[in-house]
Amino acid sequence: MASTIKAYQFTNLSRGLEYVEIPVPVPQNNQILVEIKATGLCHTDCNIISGKDVTFFWKRPITLGHEIASQIVAIGSSVTKFKAGDWVVSIIDTEHPIPFGDVTTSTRLGYNGGFVEYVFLYESKALCILEGVTFAQAAVTTDAIATAYHAVVVNGQNSASSKIAIIGLGGLGLSTAQIASRYGAKAYGTAQAGVYACAKSFKGFPGIRFDVVVDFAGAGSTTAEAAKAAKADGRVVLVGLSQKVATLDTYEFVVLGVTLKGAAGSSIKEVQKCLQMIADKEIDPLLEEIPFDHIREGLDRLARGDVIGRLYANPTKS
Ligand SMILES: [Zn+2]
Repeated sequence: MASTIKAYQFTNLSRGLEYVEIPVPVPQNNQILVEIKATGLCHTDCNIISGKDVTFFWKRPITLGHEIASQIVAIGSSVTKFKAGDWVVSIIDTEHPIPFGDVTTSTRLGYNGGFVEYVFLYESKALCILEGVTFAQAAVTTDAIATAYHAVVVNGQNSASSKIAIIGLGGLGLSTAQIASRYGAKAYGTAQAGVYACAKSFKGFPGIRFDVVVDFAGAGSTTAEAAKAAKADGRVVLVGLSQKVATLDTYEFVVLGVTLKGAAGSSIKEVQKCLQMIADKEIDPLLEEIPFDHIREGLDRLARGDVIGRLYANPTKS
């Protein structure tokens, strides 16, 4: 192993995401050192770099990238669950909803993330990758798929008879379409891939009111549209954080008894369930690999909305 490794770190807005070379971390006590085999690119990374998301953001400089699939190369002295050679993902949240304070041991919130060749993970925040699941699939499961699962199955309470509208068909939205279909629900969205019906806006679905509307854009206006598209007693699940404020038309919202629910992340059990669905070939995330040294360009594409599915990179490929 080289004495330094390549990483992309963020310190402040004016410096943006910087390429740096840093020492190899040494795992202590309950930590494991992993070689990253796949690291997913998420809109939250874009929001951090652009200054939109500083909510839980404590450590600086910090290596970004919170969708991590990896192989263990060394373990700390008190680690008992894992050994060198095991394939693991990094869990962002072990409890759900996320307790405040828990973020000190959360990837890319309280410690360094996956835009790097090697990083340490906490033993309690790692989970074995199931047989039949690739590193790339496993990486994006930890957020793009598990967050979608939490939003639509847990918060959305979808059922086989549900009509679900998805706003924003990026990595999370496409995962939601697949998960909803897996449960027999009909998913309506704004891109062709994986949905039952497709239209540019809700005007393309005249007369349809939805049991669940999941807003992955969170652009303010999209949440307002979602609230108008929900049926009586329906639910709007808000995941996206593009804008901090949304103005709702309250009349129909109140009269129809629509529920608005915020959704962030997922529990360790939900990540496990999603890994199982991939191993069982019930869902198959849409992925695009980019070279590790194109991470910044990849995030620019994501910020522009120029990505279908989820981007990932393998830092150990030269
Ligand atoms: Zn994310």
